[in-house]
Amino acid sequence: METKVAQVADLHADSRTIREAAQLLATGRLVVFPTETVYGIGANALDADAVAGIFAAKGRPQDNPLIAHVTALDDIFPLVADFPESARRLAEAFWPGPLTIILPKSDAVPLQTSGGLDTVAIRMPSHPVARAIIRQAGVPVAAPSANRSGGPSPTTAKHCIADLTGRVDMIVDGGECEVGLESTVLSLAGSVPRLLRPGAVTVSQLRKVLGEVEVDAAVTHQLEAGVAVRSPGLKYKHYAPKASMTLVHADKSRFHAFAEEKRGEAVWFLVFEEDLNAMKAMGANALAYGEEHSHSSQAKRLFSALRELDTAGAQTVYARAPSASGVGLAIYNRMLRAAGFHEIYL
Ligand code: AMP
Ligand code: MG
Repeated sequence: METKVAQVADLHADSRTIREAAQLLATGRLVVFPTETVYGIGANALDADAVAGIFAAKGRPQDNPLIAHVTALDDIFPLVADFPESARRLAEAFWPGPLTIILPKSDAVPLQTSGGLDTVAIRMPSHPVARAIIRQAGVPVAAPSANRSGGPSPTTAKHCIADLTGRVDMIVDGGECEVGLESTVLSLAGSVPRLLRPGAVTVSQLRKVLGEVEVDAAVTHQLEAGVAVRSPGLKYKHYAPKASMTLVHADKSRFHAFAEEKRGEAVWFLVFEEDLNAMKAMGANALAYGEEHSHSSQAKRLFSALRELDTAGAQTVYARAPSASGVGLAIYNRMLRAAGFHEIYL
């Protein structure tokens, strides 16, 4: 299929592009568009055939459910069996924004969208381009990250073009994503709210609104074979560069000593901006994923940096681990998966 690439720099000046993207979605086609988290590959969430196209384009396992994106609370009620008071409070506090809420689904949501589950994941994004496209499409839009399954999520249109050209009808380029990591996923389908995937909305922010919030063990631990999975996405390989990566928990001086020991070996280091000069002085191959004390800069840079390691031909990567507090939990969660759960403590 031919893939049209179009830029949206201004909602008014580029209103024809928005309209075209919305019409494609409304007629069952696939459109990649920017959100504040990462780029999404969108299809009409109520159209089982359109949704099947997402799984085919991404090479995504069929049992990994999709998030339905809407722009107003009124668009959610037809999709869910129940919209509890706790969901209302979350919507008030965090929407539009990087939070996905899981609720019991209604019959309107096809099983293709929910990955065969009786629940549905819903998010109201804040990115103006995403909102304009979804609103004009007039349907809830299922939109997982616009990458081939297993690889790092896309934070620029260039990443989507590399992964999905020939596999989608249109790619809308709206610049770099502000957050850079996928949404926080919170399930309200059980008796206690449960964090299934950490993101820019943090556990302590959620607890301020809801009181008790459980953190699923799969956020920081590898699932053992045979254990029931609450969020199917967590059991698959994710975010991985081609290189074999090890996550290294170390302060600056220990990490630099560790890098020094590897002098002369054909390895790469994924570090903070503040480490780059020392790495350079050692003659080490190094890339930065943000500043040591800024989780937001790390979130924004991580997936791009993982792709740059591939471009550089890195085979072995040692990545300096972020602190896992606040938004850092989300960064750590993605890096742990990118590293296939290989981590060492120095
Ligand atoms: P993606 O949109 O590719 O970032 O992935 C969506 C994430 O949300 C995956 O980890 C899914 O497993 C998870 N998810 C979506 N719907 C549900 C659901 N109904 N129950 C549990 N997890 C879900
Ligand atoms: Mg994804």
